[in-house]
Amino acid sequence: MRLSGKTAIVTGGGSGFGEGIVRKFAVEGAKVILMDRDMAAARRVADEIGESVVAIEGDVSRLQSFEAALDLSKSRFGAVDILVNNAGVGQSPTPLEDVSEELFDRLAAVNMRSIFNGARALVPHFKETGRGNILNVASTGGISPRPNLTWYNASKGWAIAATRGMAVELAPFGIRVNAINPVAGDTPLLSTFIGGDSDEIRARIVGTIPLGRLSTPADMGNAAAFLCSDEASMITGVDLLVDGGKCI
Ligand code: ADP
Repeated sequence: MRLSGKTAIVTGGGSGFGEGIVRKFAVEGAKVILMDRDMAAARRVADEIGESVVAIEGDVSRLQSFEAALDLSKSRFGAVDILVNNAGVGQSPTPLEDVSEELFDRLAAVNMRSIFNGARALVPHFKETGRGNILNVASTGGISPRPNLTWYNASKGWAIAATRGMAVELAPFGIRVNAINPVAGDTPLLSTFIGGDSDEIRARIVGTIPLGRLSTPADMGNAAAFLCSDEASMITGVDLLVDGGKCI
């Protein structure tokens, strides 16, 4: 088991990619603090998996949520080894000049400030323990943007830039920082991007992916487990495409 003996905080683990990451981490032997603002969703996943996963309600745009997750880990499982910044929000396709300030603020709070908050709460802990691993879930849109999703894509580009900066700064402390860039996934978030559940638009998206399918939560779990395991001990600062060849 790749993650045996390790403890992880995974944000947004109640649904979609985050749920896939929590499930894979548990299979690989990790203990998981699953933080989500949707406590019912978080509880469902934790209950289905068992005692190795504990749910906590939290909002990644607030520093206190990360502090509470760290405290919970210390009392239940001990020190935290891994932070997965997965919780995110999307936007529906909109010309860039028509996006509201409210939506921009939400994208910034959930997709960007979350990484800042996670670092403020966990990096001192990682420095103290002399080890740590941060994984940011970005997006192919962060490196290969499409029209009408500009501010969402920009928030993910920021996450990739933050990943590189954090990796360089934290490497001397034994802390690795990586990102994964999922292509459109078969998750509830997809309908946000395509403005509803349209088979025709789904088919069009699949047509842009050389491997011929949407990504899945299991795909993200597999990539995340590798990057957060000791098998990737020489890998830091990368943003790994999990995109079926879309960005070639
Ligand atoms: P994805 O396709 O990225 O997996 P989903 O919408 O399926 O998207 O899952 C995102 C998860 O993140 C949901 O469980 C949602 O409740 C959670 N989430 C969204 N915003 C926040 C937030 N501010 N704080 C904590 N969790 C959040």
